[in-house]
Amino acid sequence: MNNILVAESVSKNFGDFKALNNVSITVPKGSIFGLLGPNGAGKTTLIRIINQITMPDTGKVILDNSPLQPKHIKDIGYLPEERGLYKSMKVGEQALYLAQLKGLTKAEAKKRLKHWFEKFEIENWWNKKIQELSKGMAQKIQFIVTVLHQPKLLIFDEPFSGFDPINANLIKDEILQLRDQGATVIFSTHRMESVEELCDHIALIHKSNKILDGKLNDIKRTYKTNTFEVGLVTQNETQLMEDITNTFETSVADFKSLNNDLKLNIKLKDNETSNNLLSFLTSRAEVNHFNELIPTANDIFIQTVKNN
Ligand code: ADP
Ligand code: MG
Repeated sequence: MNNILVAESVSKNFGDFKALNNVSITVPKGSIFGLLGPNGAGKTTLIRIINQITMPDTGKVILDNSPLQPKHIKDIGYLPEERGLYKSMKVGEQALYLAQLKGLTKAEAKKRLKHWFEKFEIENWWNKKIQELSKGMAQKIQFIVTVLHQPKLLIFDEPFSGFDPINANLIKDEILQLRDQGATVIFSTHRMESVEELCDHIALIHKSNKILDGKLNDIKRTYKTNTFEVGLVTQNETQLMEDITNTFETSVADFKSLNNDLKLNIKLKDNETSNNLLSFLTSRAEVNHFNELIPTANDIFIQTVKNN
């Protein structure tokens, strides 16, 4: 099978509270899978179940074609939401210790850590104590330790929280590289900025239920409205507007332009193509801007959560 992980109808209660209600996800090998949802949706609960920290009440999780079992823990690199490092231990000492817990020899761990510390230009942190590091710095160490044993499945719970934009970008690039080297990545987030650049698949969880999932591009296709934003230059704006509104449905456009264009959104009917619109416009004005409005992950997130 081409799925590295399948969760089937997973439910989890905490007392009377249902934190997950029949949630199923399918994660294809080699994908970057975004587990999205507002705070409290149930993302971390699902991630903790996949990592065998808690047990589901009902449902099951299949990893690489076999039901979850203790030996799988070594196959997963897991960055928890609550980052825990021993505050009084030194960075290098701790990284070596954690790497050996994952099954690396000390020599191999040292070699790989040296590589990562050089890559992140943090060689001089080796002898610092964890408590001397800022939150973002400690998180970088934990990221390294998570990926060091090169597991085939990486699960990052809110990997970008706590990072400034530069370091968030650094981590983003690393995640893409890990995917290119063959790893599968699942990460949770309640913020959508990272989703566009990273995810090929998503699942949206809201109030303990999965309310949307699939390939991000397929989802975008179903959410798009055949609307184009256009910027036009004309001598006779009134006439042009009249022509357009007689033929198409329009709305106010919101994009930046350096020129004093007439800006508007134009929605096509189902049987019309972008070429129909373009030839209509070019015969009447100079077209300075022509761009299909594709819903962003953020648009989809907000719209779907509101409708549920
Ligand atoms: P998310 O990661 O999507 O923000 P969580 O999975 O952490 O959400 O939490 C989902 C809900 O389950 C929240 O309402 C949270 O308070 C509750 N919850 C999570 N873990 C526990 C627990 N151990 N005991 C009681 N309630 C919990
Ligand atoms: Mg969480």
